[in-house]
Amino acid sequence: MDIIKALQHLAYVKVCVEVTVDFELPCFINVELRDDSFVFIRVEVPWLLMRCLQYRSFSHSDKYCSKKNEVEV
Ligand SMILES: [Zn+2]
Repeated sequence: MDIIKALQHLAYVKVCVEVTVDFELPCFINVELRDDSFVFIRVEVPWLLMRCLQYRSFSHSDKYCSKKNEVEV
C-alpha cells in the first residue's frame, strides 16, 4: 500500500483475485479514492482459466464437457 501512496499517477494496477467457478467478472469496478470520492475503473482480464459450470470445475471448459452431451431420461 505504501508503494501505491508514493505514486501519484498510476497508469494501471495489477491485482490477483481469487474467484469461484461461477463468478462473473465485472466490466467495471467502483473504487473509493483517498478523498472519499469514487471512480469507475474498467477491468481488463488478460487471461482466464477454462471452466465448466456443469461440474463447477476449472479442469475443462463447458465447450468440451462430457456432461453437456448426456441425455436426461
Ligand atoms: Zn464439464
